[in-house]
Parts: sequence; C-alpha cells; structure tokens
Amino acid sequence: TSGARAADERTRWVFAGQLGPLFDDGGPMMIVEARSVFGRRPMHRAKAHLLLSAMRHRAAELGERVEYHRVERYSEAVDGRDDLEVIDPTSWAARRFVRRRGIAVLPSRGFVTSEADFAVWAATRAGKRLLMEDFYRTVRERTGLLMRGDQPEGGRFNFDHDNRTPPPKNAARLGLPDPRWPVEDEIDQEVRADLDAWQCDGRVTLVGDDGPRRFAATPAEAERALADFVESRLNDFGPFEDAMLDGDWTMAHSLLSAPMNLGLLDPLQVVETVVAEYHAGNAPLSSVEGFTRQIIGWRDYVWHLYWHLGEGYRTGSNALGAHQPLPEAFRQLDPAAIEANCLHETIDGMRRHGWAHHIQRLMVLGNWALQHGYDPVALNDWFVDMFVDGTPWVMPANVIGMSQHADGGIVATKPYASGGAYIAKMSDYCGSCVFDPKVRLGENACPFTAGYWAFLDRVEPRIRGNHRMAQPLAGLRRLADRDAVVDQERHRDRW
Ligand code: FAD
Ligand code: SF4
Repeated sequence: TSGARAADERTRWVFAGQLGPLFDDGGPMMIVEARSVFGRRPMHRAKAHLLLSAMRHRAAELGERVEYHRVERYSEAVDGRDDLEVIDPTSWAARRFVRRRGIAVLPSRGFVTSEADFAVWAATRAGKRLLMEDFYRTVRERTGLLMRGDQPEGGRFNFDHDNRTPPPKNAARLGLPDPRWPVEDEIDQEVRADLDAWQCDGRVTLVGDDGPRRFAATPAEAERALADFVESRLNDFGPFEDAMLDGDWTMAHSLLSAPMNLGLLDPLQVVETVVAEYHAGNAPLSSVEGFTRQIIGWRDYVWHLYWHLGEGYRTGSNALGAHQPLPEAFRQLDPAAIEANCLHETIDGMRRHGWAHHIQRLMVLGNWALQHGYDPVALNDWFVDMFVDGTPWVMPANVIGMSQHADGGIVATKPYASGGAYIAKMSDYCGSCVFDPKVRLGENACPFTAGYWAFLDRVEPRIRGNHRMAQPLAGLRRLADRDAVVDQERHRDRW
C-alpha cells in the first residue's frame, strides 16, 4: 500500500508489539493507547499493566518525537489522517484496520525471517508437511547460526536427546540465583492507579495480581534481562527445559518472550548473544542449540503459520469435538477448588505472574483442557488474555494446533495428551498431591491418569485413523476397568 505523503513526511504509528529501537527509523512517531483494547474480554492485570507501562515508557523515551493519544478507540486518533505509516502489524484484525484506512504499510519486523522467506520455503515443501524441524534447519543454514561451513555445529542440528532431564531429586529449587527483576517507577504507579480507576468504572475486567512488575517494559530493562539470563540460567536451560518444580516458578527459562513480543528486543540479537557464549566456551552446545531452536525455529515458525494458515484457522475446525466452556477456576485464575497439585500450582503461578513456563502450558494446562474437551477457541483466547506474552499470532499454532489438536493434525501429528506418569517423571508435584499418578480408579485416582483414558475413550472414533494413536488405543482396548474409569471421570467432582 502506498500512503498519500512521501515517506519522510510521515508519522510512524507503532503498536504495542513494536516498542523497541528495531521499529524506529528516527522520524516522528505516534503511540495510541486505546482503552477499548483492554475492555474487550477479561484480561490479566499484570498483562494490562505491562502493555500500558511499556507504551508509556516508550513515549517518555521518545519525548517530543512522539504523539501519545489516550482514546477509547484507535479510530479517534487515526481517522481523517493521511500522514501515517505503520510497520505491518501483528494480527489479522490490525492489518485489516490499517489497510482499510489506506495507511502506508512497511514490511513487518521483529522476527528472524521474513514472510517472503517463509513463502519461498513453504513453496519448496509443496504436498509435504510444513515441519518445524525442516524450517529450523533452513534458517540455520541461511543465517549461518551454529554452523561450521555447511555442517551443523557439533555434527547435529538438534541436541534434545541431551536435554529434557527430570529435575534434581529432593531439591525444592534448581538453586540458581533469583532473576534480576526490573525496578518499578512512577510510570508503573500511574498505570496501577489508572487500572484501579478503569476497574471501578466497570470499563475493564481484570483478573490476577498486579505486581510487582516482573517483565521488562523498556529496551534497557530487556537488555538487562537478556544479560541476566546468559549469566545465570543459560547453562541450565537445555537440561531443565522440560522440568517442573513446585518451589521454582522460573526454573532456567529466559523470561524473554514478553520483551520480544513487545518489540523491545530483536530476536536475532538475542540468539546471536547466546550463540556467542557457546563460541566463547562459556555455555554448552546442548543449551545454546535448544534455546536457538526455540527462537529461530519455534517462534518464527508459529508466526509464519499464523499468516500461512489463514484467519479462519483459529475458528475453522474442532477436530476432536471439544465444546466444554472453561471452568470458573480458569477464568478467574482461582485455584482454591483445585486439589490436583500440578494444576493448582500452575494456575496459582499464573494468578501471581501472568506467566507459566512451557511445559506447564503444554503438559499441565493444555493437557488438562484437551482431556476435558474445553472449547479450543475459548481456550486460545484465554491464553492470549491471561499471559503477559500472549498475542493473537503466537496462539493458534500453539493452542489450536499443537496443544489441542483441533486442526486434526496440521501442526502436530498426534494429540499432546498424557497421564500423570509424565508429570510424575518431570516434576516434584506428585509427592505432595492428594492423588496418586499410578492410580486410575478410586478415591486417590490421579485426574490426569484417569482423565487420559477417559479422553481416549471419548475421542476414539475421531482418531482411529491416526496411526500414531494406534498404540494408545490398543492400550485402551486392553484396559480391564475401562468402563469404570470412564464412568468415574464423567462424574468426577474432586479435581
Ligand atoms: P524460554 O523457555 O526461555 O524459550 C525461549 C524463547 O523461545 C521464548 O521466549 C519464546 O520467544 C520462544 N519460544 C519457545 N517455544 C515457543 C513456541 N512454542 N512458540 C513461540 N515461541 C516459542 N509463547 C509466547 O511468546 N506467548 C504466548 O502467549 C505463548 N503461549 C503458549 C501457549 C501454549 C499452550 C504453549 C504450548 C506455548 C506457548 N508459548 C507462548 C510458547 C512458550 O511456552 C513461551 O514462549 C515460553 O514459555 C515463554 O517463556 P520464556 O521466555 O522463559 O521462554
Ligand atoms: Fe498432578 Fe496427578 Fe501428580 Fe497430582 S498425582 S500432581 S494430579 S499428575
């Protein structure tokens, strides 16, 4: 699209995902704080706080170079103007909004590969699955990251078999230093007061705790968070990537998704920083490769799939016939009624921080929702609203595809369902739980273990043709107490 004015006369309107230097070419800028964005659906308070804090901090940094609008709707700030340009925004709705108004659109930024790069790669895969692992190799080869000539560093592209170890036994925490948290300032205090006022007016519905703010709201804070990760947690990232400990909510994770999704950090720079640690002999290849894959592989891949699969992908299919509404405990982030320790702790952590680490998202929350047939679209939107790093683009491939298998197998070849044995192996949750992960029938039957069989029973007709599910389904048919387990889960009142 070309705007009505020459490029050097335009004001650049930046969105909440475009708040760092990567999106700034030195000209006049505009930020619009539209209250309606916060009032569409219930939102985690920590998320609303982070978004507002990041936008207002950016405005303070830009000073006279920025117009800052506090309005009800975007249209109040942009309608009737012919001097605006944007870097292509990150959701279908925002892209439609700017195109309808004839605003000049520049190519998107904030990812390692461009949409054009992905389109070229996808075209070479015609008729085949678009596998993350294949995409990742192409990006490694194209960027030269962790490559020695045309060979991968260490002789392999993927070091996962060295990773994914269970947490240390009898340790409440990994024993790493506490992350260095940002220090709140008067902008955060103003944001908190505004959120109180909006809540009193009934203009927004906020759930969960607000603060202290744990995630970076400025490029400088984001740089410090990256340096802190490299210094204190990177070396343990790989081995403990999938481990969970009751008393350690961050484990060795980077906590960088929110600053990257806000546009405060350039993901390529993040990966280059981490790869440099390997080349300097400061960090093991297994951790560095695992982390690199999460960003230049997974993060870019789900971004491109958001566009590639189309706007209808989110709502288009419900392959496992999941129609249950989300329970109050999820919607209010109130774990009081939940006895299952793994789920209780994960929801409680979300209440406190608006964040959970990957395996909690996939194998606790996602697994639970899958087993209980929660409506995938409602679940997708709940993840967007309740996580500080939740965005429309990141969720469909992760939730509709990978976690809920609602797309019938486009993103993942089989549903990510598992019983309590996986959680027992990868965490210390089960030791202090009223349920027993080995038991599927009776008072102390683990709701994940029994729920797994009840799930297979429910979806059996829909997944019969999936050869990767042949073994689990054969196990289900051999289950002597199948009917009793299914009946128990249908009437379960303790969870
Ligand atoms: P780390 O564990 O340190 O990983 C490093 C980085 O890799 C992350 O910061 C992230 O940018 C990237 N990454 C890793 N896996 C993925 C993935 N599957 N998709 C996209 N990026 C990935 N990520 C979000 O950014 N926002 C979300 O709202 C979000 N929701 C998720 C919901 C579900 C059900 C699942 C299964 C995954 C979701 N993810 C999401 C991906 C991943 O769980 C988070 O990026 C990660 O937990 C964020 O914490 P971290 O920054 O410490 O990540
Ligand atoms: Fe979760 Fe079951 Fe373990 Fe309890 S026993 S923590 S419900 S997996």
